[in-house]
Amino acid sequence: MQVAKDHVVTFHYTLKLEDGSTLESSVDKEPLVYLHGTGNIIPGLEKGLEGKTADDEEFSITVAAAEAYGEYNPELQMRLPIKNLKSQGKLTANTMAVIETEEGPRQVMVIKVGRFHADVDANHPLSGQTLVFEINIEDIREATAEELEHGHVHGPGGHEH
Ligand code: ZN
Repeated sequence: MQVAKDHVVTFHYTLKLEDGSTLESSVDKEPLVYLHGTGNIIPGLEKGLEGKTADDEEFSITVAAAEAYGEYNPELQMRLPIKNLKSQGKLTANTMAVIETEEGPRQVMVIKVGRFHADVDANHPLSGQTLVFEINIEDIREATAEELEHGHVHGPGGHEH
């Protein structure tokens, strides 16, 4: 069976940057399970998995920033009143905070904190990065009618409801 629209794919991955450094890996943990063709994973990864099979040897997919978490946008660096920032602990540089936007809450990286204002960066931490995924497909199956209706996977690794 091949990875195709409306199939449930279970795979292990190791995510690396172009310089070879590893960011995260599912190896020795639970594999990732997703419904193919529904935009549940980044577009470049979904494209690279299309047509692959569980019999394939481990392979790698290189995803350009535009097909991953987007290009870095300098306009998303901004200065905001501190009262508009919510943080878990003390607001300091190099920690994450949350701002309210028209599209709902958004995570930002705090760059610098002044007396009344803070400089933050709302770019995704992986924006502007080419990502390299090393992939090992464990299983491919057809999605159930219910999964297709919901647009996500049920059972182990998926939604429990
Ligand atoms: Zn569901």
